Amino acid sequence: MSESLDGLHPDTKVVAAGRPPRTPDGNLNPSISLSSTNHPGGPIGYGRFGNETWSALESAIEALEHGKTLLFPSGMAAINAIFDLLPIGSVLTASRNGYTGVMNILAARERNGQLEVRYVDVSNTTEVLAALPGTSLLWIESPTNPALEVADLPTIIPAAKSLGIGVAVDNTFATPLLQQPLDMGADLVMQSVTKYLSGHSDILMGSVSTKDEGLFSRLTDIRKFGGAIPGPFEAWLALRGLRTLALRFERAQANAMELAIRLQSHPAVDRVRYPGLPTDPHHATAIKFMAGFGAVLAIDVKGGAAAADKACESSKLVTYATSLGGVESLWERRHRWGSESPTIPVNLVRIAVGIENIEDLWRDIDQALRISQE
Ligand SMILES: *Cc1c(COP(=O)(O)O)cnc(C)c1O
Repeated sequence: MSESLDGLHPDTKVVAAGRPPRTPDGNLNPSISLSSTNHPGGPIGYGRFGNETWSALESAIEALEHGKTLLFPSGMAAINAIFDLLPIGSVLTASRNGYTGVMNILAARERNGQLEVRYVDVSNTTEVLAALPGTSLLWIESPTNPALEVADLPTIIPAAKSLGIGVAVDNTFATPLLQQPLDMGADLVMQSVTKYLSGHSDILMGSVSTKDEGLFSRLTDIRKFGGAIPGPFEAWLALRGLRTLALRFERAQANAMELAIRLQSHPAVDRVRYPGLPTDPHHATAIKFMAGFGAVLAIDVKGGAAAADKACESSKLVTYATSLGGVESLWERRHRWGSESPTIPVNLVRIAVGIENIEDLWRDIDQALRISQE
């Protein structure tokens, strides 16, 4: 189906991809396919092997990420499927400040003796390149969650590939609207579809995309026999949400940029982390290849953890909750989770910017930050 979408812009693809064939009285949208088993002779066979509603969403993500795609029931299930590709004892390089869930499973897989991990600052290209020799996989999250560091993907990916090292990219913060790592040579790209792609904070889902037929077939078996499969209704909802991805993301990014600028001079803020700010240490890298800066920013609140907690508890419009990528703005002090990386400051508050009116957001964040200093 995606062949006919070649040449279209991503903001058209999100609307046009994953539609059923045009037949008289055929539906514009895929149906929610509820069947655990299938008549013989077709490509599916059984509900753990495939599903028509998954296929619709998979073909839409394929059109965006430029690689054959498999859905998983969460971003973490997708990431675990990627790590399951690695033989016992593999050595990998990974972002030191990455998503806490990933930091946790990497530590667990290290304790089990399954993997050995070299942690790097992904925004330090020299450090990343020095860590690569002798490893089998480079796991890059960029921009990182929650410190908003940016990896120089067009330099790092080809360098790893020239050493024969596999490259997998967590593209959740950027979305395929801002960067397409498979086109830069990465072997695998993953999404927490839970976030921007579905966009409404109502489902969990993950995806893995690849141009490599061999990897695709191994991942298909990992899903088929591992049994971590998404629900058809969740896949349908995610595709419905994907239709507005480009519009939602455009608005959320514009809000994030404006908030970042205003927060820079807020008396309750020590530091704003957002690659869109010209003064941000990651700006120069981001503008080289990213089509935008995303809709998550982070602030270091003056007065430490207690002040940061107070700010989060004092907002009325912005919701104090974890996660990101939905239409509604959320914020949280990341270290309220005991599992956050020790390299993340205790007063760092991540702001997942939504699509509300900017003045309403500003008024709410400003008043909450003022209360935090009382
Ligand atoms: C949320 C998130 C994940 C995990 O996805 P789930 O859908 O919550 O399992 C992985 N990576 C990043 C960058 C995330 O933000």
